[in-house]
Amino acid sequence: MSLLELDSVDSYYGESHILRDVSMHVEEGEICALLGRNGAGKTTTLRSIAGARPPTVRDGTITYKGRNITDLPTEDISALGISHVPEERRVFANLTVEENLHLAEVVSNPSNTWGRDIDFEHTGMTTEEVYDDFPRLGERASQQAGTLSGGEQQMLAIARALKQSTDLLMLDEPYEGLAPQIIETVENAIERIRDDGTTVLLVEQNAAAAMQIADRCYVVDQGAVVFSGSADELREDDETRQRYLGV
Ligand code: ATP
Repeated sequence: MSLLELDSVDSYYGESHILRDVSMHVEEGEICALLGRNGAGKTTTLRSIAGARPPTVRDGTITYKGRNITDLPTEDISALGISHVPEERRVFANLTVEENLHLAEVVSNPSNTWGRDIDFEHTGMTTEEVYDDFPRLGERASQQAGTLSGGEQQMLAIARALKQSTDLLMLDEPYEGLAPQIIETVENAIERIRDDGTTVLLVEQNAAAAMQIADRCYVVDQGAVVFSGSADELREDDETRQRYLGV
């Protein structure tokens, strides 16, 4: 059984039909990359999985650990262990790094979903574990988040997600606006997260960078899946890369 499965999913913004018959799966322990041009439907796919509305999923099913999560509210999906780091890095600019991390923990406290049919299988990372994975954040624990560099803010946004109980980490364009050197630091962190046992679903426009760390890739175009295969297969498929990714 796959950790996450989308089966013939159709998503809409109002009457605008965006995802068309999208089927994909994410296996436990892998980095799965979802690639495609501007407007291809990558963010819409992540939002559909995370239960963020809009869009509305009108057809198809999304299954996580064998459970149908298609119509669950976003807070229940998050409580089941799916963390979503959206494109705009959400950190609290006026709070320190440490306070940001602490707040992420408080927000994910299981008592917030008390009485609902949600299993809490584990808790998120401790702050020490976060600092092991992101030493840069440890060095800057008492710095205001708003004064961190773009790359550091991205790391903090990812670290905040990991403070919550996370089996599947969904990252929306984590490399956006980052210098190549910083991309490498974030890449290394994502690989470490995978190696520590968290599954990663990575959305990127920077296909070349994403292919470096991905185990498997999907390419979407106009809301439909046009390629699925290993990163090696995509590397060898010149036609798909040139036609849909421009690399
Ligand atoms: P990008 O890399 O530019 O973020 P993307 O692949 O993530 O692109 P989406 O954001 O999923 O693309 O957008 C897919 C389509 O849905 C686009 O045509 C976009 O204009 C449309 N769309 C996105 N958000 C909305 C919205 N809130 N209302 C209406 N249409 C939307």
